[in-house]
Amino acid sequence: MDAEIPYLLLTPGPLTTTKSVREAMQVDYSTWDVDYNQRVVEIRNRLVQLATNESGYTSVLMQGSGTFAVEATIGSVIPPDGKLLVISNGAYGARIAQITRCLNISLKELSYPETEPPDLDEIRNYLATDNQITHVAMVHCETTTGMLNPAAEVGKIVAEAGKDYILDAMSSFGGIPLSMESHHVDYLISSANKCIQGVPGFGFVIANQKMLEQTAGFARSLSLDLFSQWNEMEHKGGKWRYTSPTHVVCAFLQALKELETEGGIQQRYDRYSENQSTLVTAMQKQGLNTLLPRELQSPIITSFYYPEHPQFSFNEFYDELKKRRYVIYPGKVSQAETFRIGNIGNVFPDDMLALVEHIEQVLHTITVS
Ligand SMILES: *Cc1c(COP(=O)(O)O)cnc(C)c1O
Repeated sequence: MDAEIPYLLLTPGPLTTTKSVREAMQVDYSTWDVDYNQRVVEIRNRLVQLATNESGYTSVLMQGSGTFAVEATIGSVIPPDGKLLVISNGAYGARIAQITRCLNISLKELSYPETEPPDLDEIRNYLATDNQITHVAMVHCETTTGMLNPAAEVGKIVAEAGKDYILDAMSSFGGIPLSMESHHVDYLISSANKCIQGVPGFGFVIANQKMLEQTAGFARSLSLDLFSQWNEMEHKGGKWRYTSPTHVVCAFLQALKELETEGGIQQRYDRYSENQSTLVTAMQKQGLNTLLPRELQSPIITSFYYPEHPQFSFNEFYDELKKRRYVIYPGKVSQAETFRIGNIGNVFPDDMLALVEHIEQVLHTITVS
């Protein structure tokens, strides 16, 4: 572990970044400065290139955490008489539905248990019966559990039904290969502090440009107006509306360059997958089992059941691991007692093995005391 960092974040974001990404924040830029705006232009181009090889796509950056970018998208791309179908099987899918209700947009939610994938036949049948639906939204990697949802299969159904598809790829984009066209995605949402390995401060949307251009005037918010933000960035050389997180933007460009140096998304996916399988194999040797079966599991974050021991307390477990410089994540599943370990960020299989050694020692001290 890097001696300069107080602890390794094994969380789904903010996550452990490289020293060079953190160092990229040492310069103060003016938001009016051409040096800065050129970085924004470069970021927007690189994001589109990561998401597709085809033309016709564009990107928008939006201040705030990932949820702000989700809210900007839902509130800006659905027309006044539109209706959104939300497919949910976890807290982040439920959050999209909550945003939709908050904005008074017509909504149908098809929700599934947190440990089950969505039912493709039910989605297809629902779309055939409700002709008011204009858009469909789903989470790609449901960070609640670590489940990888069938984004391409759902995209195909949505495209066949002639609806627009919004994918919350917050915790997967940059870490799991996907393309706008292969997954039939019209709006893909992610943020700076997940698999691209930047620091928190903004989210982004990669969009079908023709569709986005048709959404002028739909926004239910001034600051979270996706079209207006895009229009400014596109036509004013990388300018944001309102103050942008300049330091975060510089860190993000560095993070994008490091993703390229690593070999791209496929190589990053391979590393995360190795992190995840190394972790699970070592945890299972300690008798710690995963919530999800392997076929539903993403390489992003893994949920584990609490150990079967009457003295186990998550808070104590967490504190002991933190003393040993590993920060894990509490569970978010409602029906089971779990904790989570993130597999993303500047972390490697050896970090996973070292963590599990500490877990073994900590569980030993908890159970003998
Ligand atoms: C992290 C995350 C978000 C956004 O969370 P913020 O805390 O607002 O950054 C949204 N959806 C998913 C699937 C996520 O993992």
